[in-house]
Amino acid sequence: MRYISTRGQAPALNFEDVLLAGLASDGGLYVPENLPRFTQEEIASWAGLPYHELAFKVMRPFVTDSISDADFQAILKDTYGVFAHQAVAPLRQLDGNEWVLELFHGPTLAFKDFALQLLGRLLDHFLLKRGERVVIMGATSGDTGSAAIEGCKHCENVDIFILHPHNRVSEVQRRQMTTILGDNIHNIAIDGNFDDCQEMVKASFADQGFLKGTRLVAVNSINWARIMAQIVYYFHAALQLGGPARSMAFSVPTGNFGDIFAGYLARNMGLPISQLVVATNRNDILHRFMSGNQYDKDTLHPSLSPSMDIMVSSNFERLLFDMHGRNGAVVAELMATFKQTGKLSVEDERWTETRKLFDSLAVDDDATCSTIAEVFRDTGELLDPHTAIGVRAARECRRSPSIPMITLGTAHPVKFPDAVRQAAVGEEPALPAHLSDLFERQEKFTVLDNELPAVQAFVAKHGNRGKPL
Ligand SMILES: *Cc1c(COP(=O)(O)O)cnc(C)c1O
Repeated sequence: MRYISTRGQAPALNFEDVLLAGLASDGGLYVPENLPRFTQEEIASWAGLPYHELAFKVMRPFVTDSISDADFQAILKDTYGVFAHQAVAPLRQLDGNEWVLELFHGPTLAFKDFALQLLGRLLDHFLLKRGERVVIMGATSGDTGSAAIEGCKHCENVDIFILHPHNRVSEVQRRQMTTILGDNIHNIAIDGNFDDCQEMVKASFADQGFLKGTRLVAVNSINWARIMAQIVYYFHAALQLGGPARSMAFSVPTGNFGDIFAGYLARNMGLPISQLVVATNRNDILHRFMSGNQYDKDTLHPSLSPSMDIMVSSNFERLLFDMHGRNGAVVAELMATFKQTGKLSVEDERWTETRKLFDSLAVDDDATCSTIAEVFRDTGELLDPHTAIGVRAARECRRSPSIPMITLGTAHPVKFPDAVRQAAVGEEPALPAHLSDLFERQEKFTVLDNELPAVQAFVAKHGNRGKPL
């Protein structure tokens, strides 16, 4: 499988190189040159497979020329073996034909484990073969950092530096990062906000001189491997509920458009999906596009669902590419306009075509809390605020009661106790057994000034398992 850039100018790469590349050299994002397509019979024959075997069937076409079947199967078995639920991604029923796909049984209790557990293992596999080491740098306001650290902690050839805003992430989220100890794991608390952290990571990717030749790898959802891993659970959910003989609808709590883009790909690969609901919080740039063809940058509004607090949605460019007949030149032009003006819209026919599949809703903090309360009252299930937004949007945007509606349950409620408290359901979410001693564990992190040279000097000094690069 070859991968091409959404802006049409960067060289095509194979899977291994795409995994290590992150952003394409023309500023675009990598996508498969030809999406694999499965027949209904083929998909139906996968019913009943354990999660890791289904993962092999779905992802194999994306990786075949880079890794042997036997190696890939072993990596997948190992990856999904660490999940704390036998079904890996169990479905829970909320109401007639209404479901939550629980994606929070991984080590850090959010769906990001599905991709980052795999990504760490794949990186180590390829780096061992190449005899190379890499440095990962990422900024996090919460879930990505801990999932990336958990995914890479056993990697022989990876040093990982995660920047978070000092005193501005929740204690559960901080501890999930800072209590994972290892000489290749480096948590940096920046005296600044999340944007400062992100800017420093971006600047480091743009100018990598301080790394003395060591390659820098991205773990945010611009990395194709993350999207790829997330396609699998759409197939998994549909097969549990009678697919592919019947269609499914999915509602997806959305920030950077990564998770829902994976659902869009699952559909294009042959899975009958009749509707995808884009569920956002007040940071609703995607809702404004889906409801009114206006993708316009707004200011950031902190919310009770912080993992969806974004101003622009990085993976939206991948959808734009398909909307424009995969014409990289047009996408490059649209993105240049957006950079200049902060605004983007597409031709009416293209937007109307997109709306045949996508609906959307923006859900504010009050509606998030009332949905948590309502679902708890009716079912006894405690939802996290992101999942609650998905459920709310599912209920309001649903097109047909006879089609199963599946909301992606993106995080465990214990990660977001403030929202749950505000919903006043009278119950505190509890830590699952494998994390029950989280508040007693030893923490390790370094506080640095909000200054790029200080951060880069730190990376250079510790980037080789604690030793200088
Ligand atoms: C990252 C995250 C999201 C948003 O996912 P995208 O792929 O960025 O759309 C939603 N919910 C939770 C809990 C997350 O951690």
